[in-house]
Amino acid sequence: MSNTIAGLPADIDQIKGFLSAAEGQALYDSARQASALGPVLEIGSYCGKSTLYLGLACRELGGTVFALDHHRGSEEHQEGEFFHDPDLFDSAEGQMDTFREFRRNIRNAGLDDTVVPVVSDSLTASRHWQSPLGMLFIDGGHSLDAALTDYRCWSGHICRGGILAIHDVYHDPHKDGQAPWGIYQMAMASGLYEKVQQVDSLAVLRRL
Ligand code: MG
Repeated sequence: MSNTIAGLPADIDQIKGFLSAAEGQALYDSARQASALGPVLEIGSYCGKSTLYLGLACRELGGTVFALDHHRGSEEHQEGEFFHDPDLFDSAEGQMDTFREFRRNIRNAGLDDTVVPVVSDSLTASRHWQSPLGMLFIDGGHSLDAALTDYRCWSGHICRGGILAIHDVYHDPHKDGQAPWGIYQMAMASGLYEKVQQVDSLAVLRRL
């Protein structure tokens, strides 16, 4: 797929993350529209690959991305799990630490003035949140509890006309994505959203 995103690093494929180029393009396009309505909030930034796409879109319009992640890795990133990356393990702390890599990628892309890292779990960060959101992108933990927390704590902040995007939405029950699929179904059943598009595993909805 040819890319027309200004400022996208030539080595975007080398940045650690789980996002296809088509999904990145869809995030970029969504954020370009939505950032006129309010800031973008991303849950689950990991090393910042998706944050780059969102940030480049917002920078063009003077917008902001709040990038929320505790940076200790989701369930599937822990030692012994399938998606564990030993490069991101802080052996002195005995924990995952994706924040260093995240900051490096954001700085290298020139997005320090656009992306505001929020280093916290989702529930804690949500307690005093009041700003309406132009776009919410949910790509956090894939346990049902984590996905439900993300949806319940944050989706109410999306303004009318704003975007709800959910990653790892698979209709196939044998694929990893039952919790994201679950909150996608909840959103659609609420009657508050219309479906805009599905790109690979990225579902994009608009708040009515
Ligand atoms: Mg994901």
